[in-house]
Amino acid sequence: MATLRLLAAGASAVGAGAVTTYFFTSDSPVLAEKVAHKPVKRPLPSREEQLKNLKEQLEYDVLIIGGGATGAGCALDACTRGLKTALIEGDDFASGTSSRSTKLIHGGVRYLQKAIMQVDVEQYKMVKEALHERAQMLHSAPHLAHPLPIMLPVYTWWQIPYYWFGIKMYDLVAGSKTVKSSYYLSKANALELFPMLKGDKLTGAIVYYDGQQDDARMNLAVALTASRLGATVVNHVSVVNLLKGRDRDGKTVLTGAHVRDEMTGEEWDVKAKAIINATGPFTDSIRKMDDQAVPEICCPSSGVHIVLPGYYSPDQMGLLDPATSDGRVIFFLPWQKQTIAGTTDLPCQVTHNPRPTEDEIMFILQEVKNYLNPDVEVRRGDVLSAWSGIRPLVSDPNKPNTQSLARNHIVHVSPTNLVTIAGGKWTTYRAMAEEAVDAAIQACRLEPLDVSQTDGMLLEGAHGWSPTMYIRLVQDFGLECEVAQHLAKSYGDRAFAVAKMASLTGKRWPIIGKKIHPEFPYIDAEIRYGCREYARTAIDMIARRLRLAFLNVQAANEALPGIIDIMAEELKWSPEEKKKQHKEASEFLANEMGQMVNRASRDKIPINLTKDEIQLYIKRFQIIDKDRKGYVSINDIRRGLKLFGDKDVPGEELHEILKEIDTNMNGQVELDEYLQMMSAIKSGHVAYSRFARMAEMEEAQHEKDILKKQISVERSGGGL
Ligand SMILES: Cc1cc2nc3c(=O)[nH]c(=O)nc-3n(C[C@H](O)[C@H](O)[C@H](O)COP(=O)(O)OP(=O)(O)OC[C@H]3O[C@@H](n4cnc5c(N)ncnc54)[C@H](O)[C@@H]3O)c2cc1C
Repeated sequence: MATLRLLAAGASAVGAGAVTTYFFTSDSPVLAEKVAHKPVKRPLPSREEQLKNLKEQLEYDVLIIGGGATGAGCALDACTRGLKTALIEGDDFASGTSSRSTKLIHGGVRYLQKAIMQVDVEQYKMVKEALHERAQMLHSAPHLAHPLPIMLPVYTWWQIPYYWFGIKMYDLVAGSKTVKSSYYLSKANALELFPMLKGDKLTGAIVYYDGQQDDARMNLAVALTASRLGATVVNHVSVVNLLKGRDRDGKTVLTGAHVRDEMTGEEWDVKAKAIINATGPFTDSIRKMDDQAVPEICCPSSGVHIVLPGYYSPDQMGLLDPATSDGRVIFFLPWQKQTIAGTTDLPCQVTHNPRPTEDEIMFILQEVKNYLNPDVEVRRGDVLSAWSGIRPLVSDPNKPNTQSLARNHIVHVSPTNLVTIAGGKWTTYRAMAEEAVDAAIQACRLEPLDVSQTDGMLLEGAHGWSPTMYIRLVQDFGLECEVAQHLAKSYGDRAFAVAKMASLTGKRWPIIGKKIHPEFPYIDAEIRYGCREYARTAIDMIARRLRLAFLNVQAANEALPGIIDIMAEELKWSPEEKKKQHKEASEFLANEMGQMVNRASRDKIPINLTKDEIQLYIKRFQIIDKDRKGYVSINDIRRGLKLFGDKDVPGEELHEILKEIDTNMNGQVELDEYLQMMSAIKSGHVAYSRFARMAEMEEAQHEKDILKKQISVERSGGGL
């Protein structure tokens, strides 16, 4: 084992030395020449070391509030200019909108259409900038972002040249930053590539390319890169107030912030020459700390996504209708082996804990149905998780008419020098950050040592990454191939450091890497490594270091106790702390990741069965519950499966089957849960379950057994 690790360490060192331009193949010769990045300066400081810095530093040049994409981008930008930088995030990095996006890195096809139709230069520039940033992001973290082909279905002949022209313009505006060229597909070819698509009214399709990312891990990669380059970067510390004083001209200006460590309750002051408000939808709460009377600029709107099983879309092709009949955008995109579908757009309140509602989920499901062929039955029970994100739409306080919403991001400097950066989109986080830091330098007369270095800069994990890096993880460490691919994609060249922390499986193969849930490639070592990446709560871990909560709320719930045990070892949690973490994470899954609405949707279904059906199902239930306990246990299921020749059914599989019906998740299925399940199957709300099939078969077997007893061989003549 030691030899294996040595080999891997050596290999990783070689890999880390190489400057990567892998992503940009001959098809996309972008940015390869523009790799301008500072060398990694220090090992990643721990959160405790960073907290110490935050308490002891006499004065920072820049203090950034908010650790979403925008704030993390500002921190990276400021520290590459040699400014003494601090970033504080009240919850976790990406806990706000930045982990709840559609995960597209895009220039905005729709905006380009408007720019052309309305000869709108400002709109055109926005698209152009976003397309530059798209290429920049794909380059700076190729492990976390990749090009994704997206199909636009076309339903009338005249739309084909119209869409084709629009998409070709998109390629053209991207120029040398094009990801890959778009192309037209006949109806037959479109259905071959996207077999789930409804074919009856389809006339053809256009395929174009945008980028797709793991948004929370990308956000983290930006923050970690800033941390390595010298910035003080701390999560779970929030700003509770702003400090004011006088500058050298006697003008009242901001001089720092009063902050609170949300993990301990400790409060103190942090001094800074410039303060950047990068709090997304919370922008007005900070603006009001500066000036109570300031008018609000944020007009929050919630967008819900649902996650469906992977078979709703092909592995490597998304689908997007940019203009449904009522003017909305509908999409379903493959992501991390599942399918994301969305989205809604409804005015909402600003909250740290947005929740998806049943109406929003049903609305998306209904829309998805319109695009899929009848073979793919779209069922409520297929929703694996659902989450809501708040769009930080803002009006521009620099303009006299503050009623209308800004199309792009805004940068505003208040009379006391609070620099607010808000709006925009994930794709343009770097450019937005550069603009905000420029404004801070100018307003607060900072003296940077350098210009911004972030355009083309490689982020944490990108330096030694290559598309085939995962093979070394398999060969050198003895990791399962799927796990190695996942580690390489999530951590880039840091995957070697993660693999080194993996425990032995005790099996011949894989040698290391115990999975924390049988259906997902996440392993134990990621929990330990996640604590070094500043995860401090179980929610940080299941939602943002791993993406399990976003992918499958039920699986996240099942993996939770094991995850908490490992975190407790790493972070020295007491039994009480473990209980608290479990409770908070369970509530998060129930409320913010759609588990509660999933369960409620099944509970809401009335038991819609005839008297005869109820009798039948009661009989089946009693056949399985041989000991008349009043509930069915995992052992009953095991016995049932054995009856049908499934000799050794693995524990996970049994667990899976039990999960299908056990709505209160106590490991026991009672009669009312079983009837509810059968009713939901009958009404099409949930898929036909393996348990239901097993009950059916067990009943048939039972009938046969009775018949055998009744008709003896002597009487029947031995079958003759
Ligand atoms: C449904 C939806 C889909 C989207 N899809 C895409 C897409 O596909 N592509 C794309 O480019 N863009 C997309 N966007 C837009 C993109 O997600 C956002 O523009 C971006 O994430 C905003 O980042 P942010 O850092 O400004 O805000 P946030 O990510 O919300 O970060 C703000 C942070 O500030 C912190 N904070 C608040 N108050 C305090 C305080 N007092 N002290 C300390 N910290 C504080 C919060 O905890 C939060 O983490 C989408 C948005 C939504 C809602």
